[in-house]
Amino acid sequence: MKTLCFVLSASLVLVQAPARGLRITVIDVEGGGATLVVSPSGQSMLIDSGSPGDAAKRDSARIADAMHAAGLSKIDYLFTTHYDGDHVGGAPAANAVAHFDRFFDHGEMDPKWEQNRGIEERYAAYVEIAKGKRTIVKPGDTIPFGDARIDVVASNGAVISKAINGGGQTNPFCKDADIKPPNTTENSQTAGVLISYRRFTFLDVGDLTWDKEMALACPTNKLGRVSLLLATHHGFFNDQSGAGALLWAIQPRVVIANNGPRKGLGVPAFERIQKINNLEGLWQSHLALASDKDHNTSDDMIANLDASPDCQGHAIVVDAKADGSFLVTNTRNNVSKPYRAR
Ligand SMILES: [Zn+2]
Ligand SMILES: [Zn+2]
Repeated sequence: MKTLCFVLSASLVLVQAPARGLRITVIDVEGGGATLVVSPSGQSMLIDSGSPGDAAKRDSARIADAMHAAGLSKIDYLFTTHYDGDHVGGAPAANAVAHFDRFFDHGEMDPKWEQNRGIEERYAAYVEIAKGKRTIVKPGDTIPFGDARIDVVASNGAVISKAINGGGQTNPFCKDADIKPPNTTENSQTAGVLISYRRFTFLDVGDLTWDKEMALACPTNKLGRVSLLLATHHGFFNDQSGAGALLWAIQPRVVIANNGPRKGLGVPAFERIQKINNLEGLWQSHLALASDKDHNTSDDMIANLDASPDCQGHAIVVDAKADGSFLVTNTRNNVSKPYRAR
């Protein structure tokens, strides 16, 4: 009898052993930033928290939905890329649903960088909820994240000095690269991360600007190749981000644009993405209403076809495995596409 019990419980453990991998949910916050990452061992981090004011109710409800769908009742970390309203404005409302234990950001807000209006109140509200739980990150830092790994690649105007993720090769796209002058907005101070789970890699550098992308890409590509890219600045908003020399060197297999109905993913952004060698898929949070059909991805890979305020806020979910394979799902229509290990 004793032996049988042992056998039964052992097999139960096997059945229950989590087959789960790394989950990334690109939450639709109408052209803002809010991406939930959950490691296979259950650690969780929200990267940015959507917009302030009335929008914060909407965004925190969508953050709560993503959290519950991932099987969580709280989120361990909030990582704030920068202090523009569409990235940190929703932090107090998100904290009320996610009860963050720790907060990561690029450091003190410096008014010398041009910012969206209302920065003082937003920053004060953020500092208030983060008090005593705050960590300022530098390029080269790593953040403990269970069996996944988080490398900070940019922060407070600086980028990593040494290559990571197998990077470090001379980048052939630097030779004819478009150069843009140093950016003077808060976006240039963005803290960005490369999140790795064995052979799967995900780059989210918030609204990092063209000049800083060039510093990551040239003369050597410091980031190696990535599996998945969250298209910088909501799909290279107004071409302030999305330097081809970085984009084409890191060669993401799949790109997700967290664009809004009328924000990000303009025609030049769409065209630069199409030039990525061996691109396997582009997914969008929104149909880009100012672009024609040829400059949007196929409808079934777009999470939201309506303009706000009727938008239902559907998400794009990525489930990645240790072998580097991943599945991308549009929660609007449950269309999924697998991307094989390679
Ligand atoms: Zn933004
Ligand atoms: Zn911004």
